[in-house]
Amino acid sequence: MPRRKIDIAFTRAKLAVLIDGCFWHSCPEHATSPKANATWWRQKLDRNVERDRETNAQLVSEGWTVLRFWEHEPPEAIMRQVATAVDQERADRLTRATRRHVLGAG
Ligand SMILES: [Zn+2]
Repeated sequence: MPRRKIDIAFTRAKLAVLIDGCFWHSCPEHATSPKANATWWRQKLDRNVERDRETNAQLVSEGWTVLRFWEHEPPEAIMRQVATAVDQERADRLTRATRRHVLGAG
């Protein structure tokens, strides 16, 4: 079922990782359109994609970095990108902390 949860959350880095199912989230490579009840399905699947966008916007407005992947992507490739993003966030945080320290702002 489509869902609105974050699959992996790095709360300190505010990094949200979401893995989208190819069918439910209309992957450009594997999306299929059921023939029976075609209109109902089209609306349902379009709504899912719309909700994905809303979720992204909501998270970004709360200061999160959102990484979305398709379920068909190789896990190693996903892990590599997640690790890179976590490292990047950590480095950015250190830079900010250092800057605060230098400026004496706490
Ligand atoms: Zn796919």
